[in-house]
Formats: sequence, structure tokens, C-alpha cells
Amino acid sequence: MTHIYNFSAGPAVLPKEVLEQAAAEMLDWHGSGMSVMEMSHRGPEFISIYRDAVRDLRELLAVPDNYKILFQQGGGLGQNAIVPLNLAGRKAQPATIDFVHTGSWSGKSLKEAARYANVNVAASSKESAFTLVPPQESWKLTPDAAYLHICTNETIDGVEYNFAPEIAGGTPIVADMSSHILSRVIDVSKYGVIFGGAQKNIGPAGLTLVIVREDLLGTSLPVCPSAFDWKTVAEHESMYNTPPTYAIYIAGLVFAHLKRQGGVAAVEQRNIAKAKLLYAALDADDFYQNRVALPFRSRMNVPFYLSDESLNDKFLAGAKARGLLQLKGHKSVGGMRASIYNAMPIEGVQALVDYLNEFAGR
Ligand SMILES: *Cc1c(COP(=O)(O)O)cnc(C)c1O
Repeated sequence: MTHIYNFSAGPAVLPKEVLEQAAAEMLDWHGSGMSVMEMSHRGPEFISIYRDAVRDLRELLAVPDNYKILFQQGGGLGQNAIVPLNLAGRKAQPATIDFVHTGSWSGKSLKEAARYANVNVAASSKESAFTLVPPQESWKLTPDAAYLHICTNETIDGVEYNFAPEIAGGTPIVADMSSHILSRVIDVSKYGVIFGGAQKNIGPAGLTLVIVREDLLGTSLPVCPSAFDWKTVAEHESMYNTPPTYAIYIAGLVFAHLKRQGGVAAVEQRNIAKAKLLYAALDADDFYQNRVALPFRSRMNVPFYLSDESLNDKFLAGAKARGLLQLKGHKSVGGMRASIYNAMPIEGVQALVDYLNEFAGR
């Protein structure tokens, strides 16, 4: 097999050790004679896999005791509906939900939420072509909002929050962290809800993580599907219906691997180094451009453009020939994008940087 580096935005690269362990355990998990895929989700084998995964995630993110960790299906887009269905009932109907619009994903979230509540765009960086996070002082929040939704890392636009918002008055903050969860240390207690699809930085597609403060359970709208009502899901330890068992198993292996690497703080330092290396190559001259304001450049998703876009196909073909895969930008914004999640080794970033320099004739 030729050696490659996979820069896909998601589903994305996983740690090699995790894939090797999964391969070794594929046919017979720990002497059970079964593949994890074949196990009952209510059997002792899978329950132990599940509990280890929850325990490790709680430890990695220092999730306080008054938060539930839920493993759901439906992806980030599913949560765009599931969040308002669970939280809009906190206020008299129709409730208002505040949004900070910083790019494609928060845009999708607010559009979906408008089906269940009034939506107030408290701030938007649309005028700046989604290249920054509007300063918190400029946000026009609704005093009685059911919650405030933010996307702390805009995967397509490459914009990442460099602060955790603090809002007076007790409005819970819901954060879509799909593409940078576990990449940096966060203070979970600053948020009411954190959610993320697993396929960026955690594991396989099909698993969605929700971390929710306990006082936010039990306020769902009557139309909320039972299988997506967080209170019901929490009461059944994410097994009200069959959870994505194999995806949970792989996520658990990723959590254990992260712990062996020193946890989130250690991985964050490596992510800072990787991002620095890549942005320095993009900034070296005008051959490439990343358009995001410096303080908000994402450490995980790095969109960039060639100043001569007629070279795009040649750039991608040359990258592929060197085993640098999935660098094409999202179709909505064009250009290139390198996603450098936790599982991308610095050697992969260095290989990309070498190619960037070579292609630019440096
Ligand atoms: C990928 C992504 C989503 C969508 O996830 P799906 O699992 O495809 O529904 C939502 N939000 C962000 C920030 C993402 O990066």
C-alpha cells in the first residue's frame, strides 16, 4: 500500500493504532468470539465498551458531574432540529433562539431552527465574507431567548472561536463543536449543550455526541420524537433505541488513544504546532492565500486559494501523485482545504508544506 496523508474534512483520518486494534479485534473481541458489530447493545460486553467510552470522554474533557453524555444518531444536521426540539420549550411559544452567524454551518443551523422557533441573528460576519467571529460586545442578544447557538469551528470557512462567550442572564449557550471537539482544552461549564458529529475528530460517521447540562433536560416540545428527546435518551444511557454500537466502540478506542498521548492539553500543543507550520507556508508570499482574520484561523480546517486559480487542477493532481489526498475545497467556496485533525501527524503537515513550497517554486 502506498503511503498517503488524508486531509479530508470528514469522514476523516483516524489514528493508525486505532484502526490496527479494530482490525485485530474484528472477528473476536476480547475472547468473546464475536465482533463488536454482532453484539447485543444490552449485553455485558457492549455495556462495558460503552461505559469505558463515556468514562474516558468525561475524563478527557473534564465534563462536570451535572452534565450527561449522550451518544446519538442523526449527525450534526440532525442536531440542528433536535436542539430546538429539546430546548425551545424552555420559553413560552413561540420561543426565540439567538444565533451568531459565522459561516456555512451556523447558517444551516439557523435555517433549520426557524422551523421550530423565531430566530434572531444576534451577529453575523456575512459582510466580512465569514472571515471572523464578530466581537461579543456587538452581539444583539434577546433577553429571554431559549438559548444561543454558536458554531465554534466553521469547518468550511476555516473560522474558529478563540474565546468562550460569557453571557449574562442565564441564557444557555449551545455550541456545535463537530469539527474541533477534543482538539483543544475547553471549559464545558461555559456551555449548556455541546454537540458534534463524530466523523471529524472522534470516529466513524453515524455517531453524534451530545453533552448536555442536566437542568436542560425535560423541556422538549411535544412534537419532539421520543428517540431524540434528550431526557429519554439520558434516562436510558443512550440505549432507548439501538445506538450506533460499532461507531461507539471505535470512538472509545480513539478516546483511549488520546489519553495515552497525554490527553487534550498535550494534543492541543501538537495541533498548535501543526497549524503554525501550515499557515507559515501559506503566508510566505502571495502564491497562496488564506483569507481568515489571523485571530480566528482554524487549527483544524485550513482553506486556502491559489492566487492563480487556473492552476487548481494541476495542484491537486501533483498533490495526489505525492499521496496528499482530499485537498479540494468545499464546493460552496472553491479553492483548497487541508483538514488537519488530531489524527493527522505533523509528518503529514510537513509533507504538505514541502509540496506547497515546491509547487510555488520556492
Ligand atoms: C460536518 C459538520 C456538521 C454536519 O454533520 P453531519 O454529520 O453531516 O450532519 C455540522 N456542523 C459542523 C460544524 C460540521 O463540521
